[in-house]
Amino acid sequence: MLIPNMNYAKLKDSYLFYNIAQKIKAYSSKNPNARLYRLGVGDVTLPLCEVVIKSLHEAVDDQAVKERFHGYMPECGAPFLRQAIARHYAQRGISLSEEEVFVSSGASDELGDIIDLFDRDTSVLIMEPAYPAYVDANIMAGRKIIRLASDSSSGFLPEPDDNIIADVIYICSPNNPTGAVFTREKLQKWVDYANNNGSIILFDAAYEAFIEDKELPRSIFELDGADTCSIEICSLSKTAGFTGTRLGYTVIPKALERNGMNLNAMWVRNRTTKTNGVSYIIQKGAAAVFTPEGQEQVHRSLAVYKNNAAVLSAALDKIGLWYCGGKNAPYIWMKCPHGMTSWEFFDYLLNEIQVIGTPGAGFGECGEGFFRFSAFGTADDTTEAANRLINLLK
Ligand code: PLP
Repeated sequence: MLIPNMNYAKLKDSYLFYNIAQKIKAYSSKNPNARLYRLGVGDVTLPLCEVVIKSLHEAVDDQAVKERFHGYMPECGAPFLRQAIARHYAQRGISLSEEEVFVSSGASDELGDIIDLFDRDTSVLIMEPAYPAYVDANIMAGRKIIRLASDSSSGFLPEPDDNIIADVIYICSPNNPTGAVFTREKLQKWVDYANNNGSIILFDAAYEAFIEDKELPRSIFELDGADTCSIEICSLSKTAGFTGTRLGYTVIPKALERNGMNLNAMWVRNRTTKTNGVSYIIQKGAAAVFTPEGQEQVHRSLAVYKNNAAVLSAALDKIGLWYCGGKNAPYIWMKCPHGMTSWEFFDYLLNEIQVIGTPGAGFGECGEGFFRFSAFGTADDTTEAANRLINLLK
């Protein structure tokens, strides 16, 4: 009898967004005229910028003309996009060759696929609260997961512990869900730990574009020694509104080797076996993001989300509740008032002021008692939600 991958039986049902949807449905059927203020999910609300749309249209037209038509694209990414991304890093002082940049269909796809590079027996360290896909992808692969809980005393930025040795370390900065951002000094400790122990860091930089503070690292490759211990996974989803368009990129330095194997060469082998590349049209749209005009336009949308984060942070400052994030990050992670659990606070906000956030308990046990707001809502909803929070909680 065929035996399926029994690791799937170890996955916990993902109740978080299902439960949220059920609670909203129940509330809306009882209160059909109620207007809801949605600051829950991390999906963008602004459209793609003009240069991206123009480039997508032109690429569609190319596909209608024999001389400009494109069939299969190179598996690791079109040279024009790999070069544009490498140049983008160079502008920030990080020197990469185009072969170190891999184009993907998004960070989620890549986070799931990249663990193919590691032996089944490797252990993975996941700092919690965490983006749920890190845990689930490794449960599916049957890996040993070491959970490193963090709390408000460290600003949800845990430090390495030499008594806990892991082969693969997930770091997300700016963090989803906490909005916490590693300083150069704190991130350097993880890079040094990884190099000392032969570990590899999977650095999720999906929210790097939200970093304004020049002192904070936007890429792990800004740190000394990162090229011998790190892989960076990035995405245009939140940077440029590509959540529904799908484009990401991954940097694997040629200097990254373990046990006589070169990780960059392994990933080339993986991609050339398991994908036929990302669509020409989407890669053309993505390339427009990296033009001066594209950067100017995506930063206009980012400014709206950053302002939303500032509005929510100002409301929590006024109320006097503990929170982190909201600066250099699109998430605000707050302590629930009056000792409420995450779900009690969710119900309270929905019933009293029709504001929707995400219960922190959904991101790991240490998220209990905390609550996440997303800055990706509309400016109007965010301002109204912030006023309602002040009136309810002050
Ligand atoms: N990594 C983090 C931390 C995220 O929050 C998300 C999406 O919310 C992703 C990765 C996935 O991004 P993508 O849309 O590129 O798959």
